[in-house]
Amino acid sequence: MKIIMLGAPGAGKGTQAKMIAEKYDVPHVSTGDIFRANIKNGTELGMEAKKYMDEGLLVPDELTVRILLDRVAQEDCRKGYVLDGFPRTIPQAEVLDEALGKTGSKIDYAINVEVPDENIVKRMSGRRACLSCGATYHVEHVPPQKEGICDVCGKELVLRDDDKAETVRNRLDVYHKQTQPLIDFYQAKGILHSVDGTADMNDVFAAITEILG
Ligand code: ADP
Ligand code: ADP
Ligand code: ZN
Repeated sequence: MKIIMLGAPGAGKGTQAKMIAEKYDVPHVSTGDIFRANIKNGTELGMEAKKYMDEGLLVPDELTVRILLDRVAQEDCRKGYVLDGFPRTIPQAEVLDEALGKTGSKIDYAINVEVPDENIVKRMSGRRACLSCGATYHVEHVPPQKEGICDVCGKELVLRDDDKAETVRNRLDVYHKQTQPLIDFYQAKGILHSVDGTADMNDVFAAITEILG
């Protein structure tokens, strides 16, 4: 089963992707997590990606596509995967399709998590991230057991630099211009399913499992 998560930054793609990965036993592949891990480790790729991420801009397609195709070529992705944060542009979607086509495969579901812009800025300012293990919390909606500490690995939680209000507004602009056209792209392929992302995260997940079966 190969699944794509679509939706604005902060819509809850990552939260739902983790739940899907666990229930359906497929890897959760997040390009944002891969970039952040590279930044943390000070790799050349990380330094290149950071320039764009800090501005709320997309990392160039060429670089992003290379990273993603490398990742999904790994053994654990043979049984399928849930992609979170990729594709984010039509060219990325086309390259993915082409690569899958070569092996006689395709994306089975594109899940669009819908949340209006008004809700997004507020959600993002409350998001807290663990840069060590990738876990995500929210100060109101999904608080960790101990304030500021990751439940999973015990490391300190941070407000991501790009989750500050001004950068979030840039990211929303970028989303509307470059990523939203993917909704029509997958609609035309007949695999688009939309869910109401403003609902409680467990209700959103129930709607998704209804779709995936
Ligand atoms: P969010 O989950 O809040 O939408 P991500 O972790 O997915 O954020 O992405 C953070 C940043 O990483 C993006 O703003 C962008 O700069 C970069 N990025 C992640 N995935 C992609 C992608 N597929 N194409 C280009 N840039 C990406
Ligand atoms: P994305 O990957 O789309 O950027 P996240 O999954 O990281 O989004 O969620 C963004 C923020 O909103 C996080 O702080 C997360 O804990 C919180 N969140 C996720 N789903 C919900 C929900 N259904 N209701 C309220 N808050 C949510
Ligand atoms: Zn952690």
